[in-house]
Amino acid sequence: MSTSQLPGRVEPYKLAARHEKLAGLVPLGNLKRLAEEIGAQTGDCRVTLDFGIDAQGRREIRGSLEATLMIGCRRCLEPIECPVASEFLLGMVADESLAGELPASHEPVLVEDEQLDLLTVVEDELILSLPQVVYHDEADCLVPAEQLVSEADESEQATAPEDNPFAVLGALKGNLKDK
Ligand SMILES: [Zn+2]
Repeated sequence: MSTSQLPGRVEPYKLAARHEKLAGLVPLGNLKRLAEEIGAQTGDCRVTLDFGIDAQGRREIRGSLEATLMIGCRRCLEPIECPVASEFLLGMVADESLAGELPASHEPVLVEDEQLDLLTVVEDELILSLPQVVYHDEADCLVPAEQLVSEADESEQATAPEDNPFAVLGALKGNLKDK
C-alpha cells in the first residue's frame, strides 16, 4: 500500500466519474475530535477509498481503514494498544435533506461545493469504530483484582436505575475523557 499521506480535500464527483482509488496515511495527531474521545494519538491511520458510481447512478465511496490506537484502560487508565479496523460504504449527497433517499447500506457523506474533506470522513469512521470500553486483562491491570470487585459493586449502584443503558454509557465516556 502507498505510504503517502491521503489528500485532505478532494473533488469526489470527479473521482467517482473516473472510478479512482485513493490509498494513503492520515496522521492520527491531526484528528482533534478523536483526541477528545480517547486522548492524543501518535502514528497513522491506513486508509483506502474506492470512488465509483453504482448501477442506480449513486456516487459512492467504498472505504476501509486500519489504525492502532492507545486507549486508556477503564480501570487503571493506563493506555492499551487497540487495533481498530473498519469497512464502510458512503453515499455522496449534495444536501442533508437528500440523505434519507440513500439505502440503509450507505452512510451519507455531505459534499459541499463539489468538495469533500477526507480527514473529516476518516475521523468520523475512526470514532465510529472505537471500542466502547477497554480493559486490561486482570493480571496486567494496575488496579488489583480485590479492588475491582468493590469498584464494580459501587458503579452498579451509582448507575441505577436499572433501565438506563445511556447513563452507563455516559459514565463510561466521562471516565475515558477524564484521563
Ligand atoms: Zn488496567
